[in-house]
Amino acid sequence: MRCPLCGGPAQPFAASTRKTSRTYHRCGSCGFVALAPSARLSRAEEKARYLLHDNDPADRGYRDFVGDFVRRAIIPFAAPGDAILDFGSGPRPLLAATLAELGYHCDLYDPCFAATRAWRRRTYGLVALHEVAEHIAKPGAELAFLAGRVAPGGAIAIRTRFQPSLEEDFDAWWYRMDPAHVSFYTPSCLERFFGGFGFVLAFLAPPDTIVFRKTALG
Ligand SMILES: [Zn+2]
Repeated sequence: MRCPLCGGPAQPFAASTRKTSRTYHRCGSCGFVALAPSARLSRAEEKARYLLHDNDPADRGYRDFVGDFVRRAIIPFAAPGDAILDFGSGPRPLLAATLAELGYHCDLYDPCFAATRAWRRRTYGLVALHEVAEHIAKPGAELAFLAGRVAPGGAIAIRTRFQPSLEEDFDAWWYRMDPAHVSFYTPSCLERFFGGFGFVLAFLAPPDTIVFRKTALG
């Protein structure tokens, strides 16, 4: 299989617990890990799962989780009044509501819950993927398209749990157990990918947050 992020050669491996075993592919070139296509949920199963695990905006812990991302990964990289795309906004878009309160103009897109199209022709001061990149089955194509939606000097802010630094820790890693999680990144595979579109690393906060700035020439 080819790596769905960079197109490099990817090798299959099994990750197992006592109860389950799933097949993944690890890219020998960039280190990206993909769940085997045969193990992916259907779109309908995926949507049902998002609704089942809906994050309640009234939940204090979830508000703090989103607020932390806004404070660290968005406000320092987007000027007041900037247009922001909330890509993968989910059933109840708390991130977009938070950004609107702060004076940003926010467009939403979600394949299940907000299948808008106008954003595809626009550019943005910032594109946010909050707990979304792990659901993207073809990240090479989708992230490349999103890179093109960022205006020169703008940024892309991503929150997704990075792979454990030791490969042997992958089997027991809780984040891969969610059947809707299909794509697993490292900071360096993302840096290499976005570097190809003229982006530079602007902020990295393990275990899950990374921001790239598009250079004026990007
Ligand atoms: Zn790769």
